[in-house]
Amino acid sequence: MSEQITLNHFIGGQPAEPHSGEYFESTNPATREVIYRAARGNEADVAAAVTSAQQAFEDPRWRNLSQTRRGHLLRRLGDLIAANAEELARSESRDNGKLLREMRAQLAGLPEYYYYYAGLADKIHGDVIPTSDRAILNYTTREPLGVVGAITPWNSPLTLTTSKLAPALCAGNTVVIKPSEYTSATVLRLAELAVEAGFPPGAVNVVTGFGAEAGQALVDNRGLAKISFTGSTGTGARIARAAAGRFIGATLELGGKSPNIIFEDANIANAAMGVVAGIFAAAGQTCIAGSRIFAHRSVYDELLERVTERAQSIQIGDPLLDDTELGPLAFGDQRDKVASYVDLGRDEGARVLTGGRATDGGLGGYFYEPTVLVDVTNDMRVVREEIFGPVAAIMPFDTEEEVVRLANDTEYGLAAGVWTTNLSRAHRVAAQLEAGTIWINTYRAMSPMSPRQGFKNSGVGIEHGTETMKEYTRLKSVWVNTSEEPVADPFILRS
Ligand code: NAD
Repeated sequence: MSEQITLNHFIGGQPAEPHSGEYFESTNPATREVIYRAARGNEADVAAAVTSAQQAFEDPRWRNLSQTRRGHLLRRLGDLIAANAEELARSESRDNGKLLREMRAQLAGLPEYYYYYAGLADKIHGDVIPTSDRAILNYTTREPLGVVGAITPWNSPLTLTTSKLAPALCAGNTVVIKPSEYTSATVLRLAELAVEAGFPPGAVNVVTGFGAEAGQALVDNRGLAKISFTGSTGTGARIARAAAGRFIGATLELGGKSPNIIFEDANIANAAMGVVAGIFAAAGQTCIAGSRIFAHRSVYDELLERVTERAQSIQIGDPLLDDTELGPLAFGDQRDKVASYVDLGRDEGARVLTGGRATDGGLGGYFYEPTVLVDVTNDMRVVREEIFGPVAAIMPFDTEEEVVRLANDTEYGLAAGVWTTNLSRAHRVAAQLEAGTIWINTYRAMSPMSPRQGFKNSGVGIEHGTETMKEYTRLKSVWVNTSEEPVADPFILRS
């Protein structure tokens, strides 16, 4: 172990040792070095965190804080993230193997989420609703829910936690976060920064640990008013069932198997770079990965040549170095999963045009070469199931109608890319694709201002933008009789 760092839970504004006394190790996937040990959370730890969040929710320091002041705190948290950006970027890069370059770019954008929701904090309000009886006043208010449980994955811990934390706090809730067991460090640091920003102790709590233990205990805790989850579709289904049984809301951002469609009239050089960005950035470990690539038969060979050439020149290695383009998979099992999917593809009849091998990246880590599969069909498992690695499946198509059908022939509906210079076709196809985000002549664009939703098995509920505020508030409708007159007929409804 290069450094003996111990990370505890963060409960009530301070580090908290696990009730069990147990810790688990977290490794740098580029080198397999153990970088820290984190508290192994259990039911008792989760109960302590939820109690702390409930107390903070009731605390007048939070409850009575004006919405404008709440916005100030979010703004300060954004400033603190900006001031600590390099430390956070390096920490997350060491934890999950993301390129430091990419983490620096993410950190440059992360404060914007807090600034955006800071601005929104005092614009959350109800409405006055028209009534048919002038004596009756009807108005609505928007209230915070209470304690929000946020469960997040390892592929972009800070950003994906922020997508929940910023709007939850903006609405006046308090939060208990369970980060992925593979990436505890930066989320714990974020909670410390929240206290530094002035959020009262207990407003932001973190319980680290495994999904089946800490995660399940959080989902089962009766003190939660809502669950917000980002992760795999399988875990999302379990969480949805648990939330439904208790009639609490669940926002679910789940997996994907997104199509990236290249029409014959596209700028092929740009499209090829869009394909590379869609599937090889972050070593393919993004929910929005454009993993099913459909190229019109007349440009299929040219696209293959360009993508393959670029894939072969991708610089694999230390994610901390500036010229590295592909870091490791986030942990050993993930690398093995990717390798076994490529083997499965071979068994199913796919041809590996380039890549297809695990490597240690010269560092002893969990790397996998950027891989292009051809001779694939939309019914193979390698094309239907989420691999979450740098594996592109490229297929030819002949007609627009055919490619729309193929693109929609999936259980997922997270995102889709369309490459064409034909304006009418671009919008026509966008309208027909069953996916919550459509990119035309670009891929992987997103912003805190832009709401997004997964269709089909890719999710329930909306994240980002003003729309997500409905997920973190409840609506109350108040009816007032402004007249002193007795009710004319007590046996009919008033409206
Ligand atoms: P995962 O479902 O295995 O784990 C996600 C989180 O849930 C982790 O914190 C884990 O500990 C916890 N968890 C696991 N089992 C649990 C249980 N029974 N009860 C409560 N919590 C539990 O997912 P992952 O492997 O960490 O992340 C990768 C997945 O996340 C991919 O499917 C990817 O597509 C998806 N993802 C989706 C989005 C999106 O916005 N739609 C973004 C990023 C990642």
